[in-house]
Amino acid sequence: MLNTQEALTSLLSAAKPLIDVETIATIDATGRVLAEHLKSQLNVPTMDNTQMDGYAVRANECVSGSARLRVSQRIPAGHVGQPLEAGTVARIFTGALIPEGADAVVMQEQCQFDEATGSVTVNHTPASGEWVRRAGEDIQAGSIILESGTRLRAQEIGLAASVGLASVSVFRKLRVAVFFTGDELTMPGEALKPGAIYNSNRFMLRGLLQQLGCEVTDLGNVPDTLAATRQALRQASEGHDLIVTSGGVSVGEEDHIKPAVEAEGRLNLWQIAIKPGKPLAFGEVRRENDSANAFFVGLPGNPVSSLVTFLLFVRPFILALQGAKVVPPKSYPMRADFVWKKPDRRNEYLRVRVNNGGGLDLFPNQSSGVLTSTVWGDGLVDNPPGQAIAVGDVVNFIPFTELSF
Ligand code: AMP
Ligand code: MG
Repeated sequence: MLNTQEALTSLLSAAKPLIDVETIATIDATGRVLAEHLKSQLNVPTMDNTQMDGYAVRANECVSGSARLRVSQRIPAGHVGQPLEAGTVARIFTGALIPEGADAVVMQEQCQFDEATGSVTVNHTPASGEWVRRAGEDIQAGSIILESGTRLRAQEIGLAASVGLASVSVFRKLRVAVFFTGDELTMPGEALKPGAIYNSNRFMLRGLLQQLGCEVTDLGNVPDTLAATRQALRQASEGHDLIVTSGGVSVGEEDHIKPAVEAEGRLNLWQIAIKPGKPLAFGEVRRENDSANAFFVGLPGNPVSSLVTFLLFVRPFILALQGAKVVPPKSYPMRADFVWKKPDRRNEYLRVRVNNGGGLDLFPNQSSGVLTSTVWGDGLVDNPPGQAIAVGDVVNFIPFTELSF
């Protein structure tokens, strides 16, 4: 059996990143992967400006309590003031440019305006530079603000926009076909016959792929026969970079994924020493009129196994195909507020929740079919093989947020 790291290394070394690039509007680029370094042509801020509503002053003219200075001008955001006359201050509003000659801002709460004389008493001794945002203090003109391979979240889109970039060059979307094996599978909305279950993996998997910015083709449920599975694979390979399936990856009589992929391409069926999870099928499926194959990943049918193997293996594989930088998820040492007496010989991924005391609670049912545990939990404890856990032990916690998007 492979361990987590070995399986991941094999997957990532097999991944062939996309090369097709397109230029799209920055505003539509959330979830996409940058295909170029983004450089700023500007300083941000472009010029010195105020961080507060108040008065722009010459700091050396202000001594708390005794400075009484005439207000010589008013500068709202978006307007340019005059050079500041000596012995005067400028009324100024957040974001407005600091007038020439001024070097600090005193916030309005520390000033008293006298209507009759048009002057203010300054009850504060400012340091030079106080409440001034310096030109270029955030970004310097010419610097790289985002590197090629970056996945664009809301904050990256905002950053690109803040330096005026209206369009960006990104890799095209990864095209993924999915199908689901299992004669017991029923769609929500339909009545459940005896022995049937709802196809929860279909919803979960599509959600996962959408969060990763993939273009998904859903081929639905496929009957548990070799012929139907082979037919579905042939259909799925056309026009798709990757095929993802759920169920049928064991080697029982009703499990047709292995022989079907072997007939339509090639397959490695991996026993990975993890729990939940274990079997993960990885390979390639031929395309009729194309020398390049589609990649294939077969997930186990048990919903928690399916989710965990997706997060640990398929997500980084997809990131690699998308041209994104693959960064291992951050894990945090945390205190266990639970006991785990009978560890497995495999590397376990326990569903846990962060409690108010800063420790971790364990979901009582860790069975691989209990999807409730993944909704209740905040993440996974990555527990080494054979490791029992006592209350107070420090364990390795991976938040689900590290494994999403
Ligand atoms: P399999 O991997 O096909 O042996 O299935 C293992 C377990 O997962 C069985 O209990 C199946 O009923 C269940 N299962 C398989 N596919 C799905 C699915 N799409 N949604 C929910 N449960 C599933
Ligand atoms: Mg099955």
